[in-house]
Amino acid sequence: MTSTIHALPTEVVYLITAGEVIDSLASVVRELVENSLDAGATRIVVSLCPQQWRVSVADNGCGMNLDDLQKAAATHSTSKIYSCADLWKISSLGFRGEALHSLTNLANLEILSRPANENFGWRVSYSDCGKVNQVEITAIAPGTVVTVSNLFANCAARRQGLPPVAQQMKAVQATIQQIALCHPHVTWQIRQNDREWFTIYPATSIKQLLPQFLPQVKEADLQQIQLKLPKPPNSELTTHDSAMTLVVGLPDRCHRHRPDWVRVAINGRMVKTPELEQTILTAFHRTLPRDRYPVCLLHLVISPDQINWNRNPAKTEIYLNEVNYWQEQVTQGIEQALRLSSANIKEAVHITRVSKLLKAAEAKGGYNFNPKHPNEGDKNQHSGLSNPYSLKAVAQVSNTYIVVEHPEGMWLVEQHIAHERVLYEQICDNWQLIPVEPAIILYQLSPKQVAQLQRIGLDIETFGEQLWAVRNVPAMLQQREDCADAILELSLGGDLQAAQVAVACRSAIRNGTPMDLPEMQTLLDQWQRTRNPRTCPHGRPIYLSLEESALARFFRRNWVIGKSHGI
Ligand code: ADP
Ligand code: MG
Repeated sequence: MTSTIHALPTEVVYLITAGEVIDSLASVVRELVENSLDAGATRIVVSLCPQQWRVSVADNGCGMNLDDLQKAAATHSTSKIYSCADLWKISSLGFRGEALHSLTNLANLEILSRPANENFGWRVSYSDCGKVNQVEITAIAPGTVVTVSNLFANCAARRQGLPPVAQQMKAVQATIQQIALCHPHVTWQIRQNDREWFTIYPATSIKQLLPQFLPQVKEADLQQIQLKLPKPPNSELTTHDSAMTLVVGLPDRCHRHRPDWVRVAINGRMVKTPELEQTILTAFHRTLPRDRYPVCLLHLVISPDQINWNRNPAKTEIYLNEVNYWQEQVTQGIEQALRLSSANIKEAVHITRVSKLLKAAEAKGGYNFNPKHPNEGDKNQHSGLSNPYSLKAVAQVSNTYIVVEHPEGMWLVEQHIAHERVLYEQICDNWQLIPVEPAIILYQLSPKQVAQLQRIGLDIETFGEQLWAVRNVPAMLQQREDCADAILELSLGGDLQAAQVAVACRSAIRNGTPMDLPEMQTLLDQWQRTRNPRTCPHGRPIYLSLEESALARFFRRNWVIGKSHGI
């Protein structure tokens, strides 16, 4: 019988962050479940009896033989690393060899386990300091069942320091969900007080799994991209390539009132990385309505030598090399995920929303919009490289909406906010203040307004009693007749970005303005090349899509009534 668990040498123990990781029911669940995942489990059953302070985790992983069971709870005993050098090659969730040992000091611990190649298993119970107490043969399926009971029975202060049961169970649920998102292929069954509590069904991707936790979000509201990343600079010795999985909620479809679904995982574990979280929030800037936050999950799989997990013993914080490099990759990844592409052009949610809208319109008899001869236009006129998704302006409705034809159906684009998005990005990329001669004279400004204009960089000085002279203005406003009004608007508050939005909004073509086809086409071409074409800088959706598939369904094109209807 070979054993794989061994005690770590003292020099390795010195390098591992010391500290107790078991401080709650949720932390017990985390440690046990991570052991199951390290054992290769694809099915995990967690049973909780919070009133009895009992947790048990059963898995179908590789199991342990008797020799390993006898060593499993000894201090710093692990099968996952051997030497100091291994600390830079960590590919498992555990490596400290401390969880089971701590549990023997804080609770009663019992493990049943059977490796797949043996015909029966063993039940081992442990006493303080991980000493084996009782051993007996047992009949179980291959895998492991770890049961922790009477948690903190010998330290009343710890129990008293914990929140009420309901809150502890919330923490347990959150812990399991976070771990599940990093391992979407696993099936989870969670029981509380001998009753089914919740189940997590396995998924092929994070995007497919997330709607189980956020029922108001549909899979079609999310965009998932997978990117292989080059090695970071200064990492010549790094052997592994890196990869990034990014799941973003499309900003015209979902957002949250708290940043509670901005999450970062690295190599299989959710971690707190304020730098990357901030990068995500910044990448979504000005794509969402005010005070709303994106849904964004980032899973980086990177070479283990780029990470030091020994920042805190629970491994929720890490030291990450080359943070700037990863930030750049994340920014580019999010930009890519938010673009309009054939991958995310399928608009399942829009399809249902639109078919409701069409039904309502039909009921009122008001849906009599009739585009002029859609097939008669010159097919080649707008094709080519300048038009990556073949958006073709067909008509204008109510001097407000551009009717757009594209290979998958038809869109309505609101002209003002599409143009606002174009101008806003141009302004952000190239914010210019240019001198004006003669100066623009403003009347009766409050000191706050003057300070505000100075803050966004305008050159303003008193020009007499209650008069001020402004000697430079944002380039886009220079030619406008209402330039003085625009400056007054800017003086009323907001930071530079708010001023940029205000300038874009004022300069963008108004709704109600007639446009001819070439003008509309130019706007569409510019708009689809923006970084965030889905929403305007205030977060309003820019386009409504009427997919061909939804239209076909609406017009019941699958009904074969007779030859004469074969259209
Ligand atoms: P670590 O996970 O850091 O190695 P633990 O104290 O959590 O330390 O576990 C000690 C050892 O017990 C592990 O290295 C592993 O070999 C074994 N082990 C624990 N749980 C399981 C399990 N569910 N299935 C198989 N082996 C396990
Ligand atoms: Mg462990």
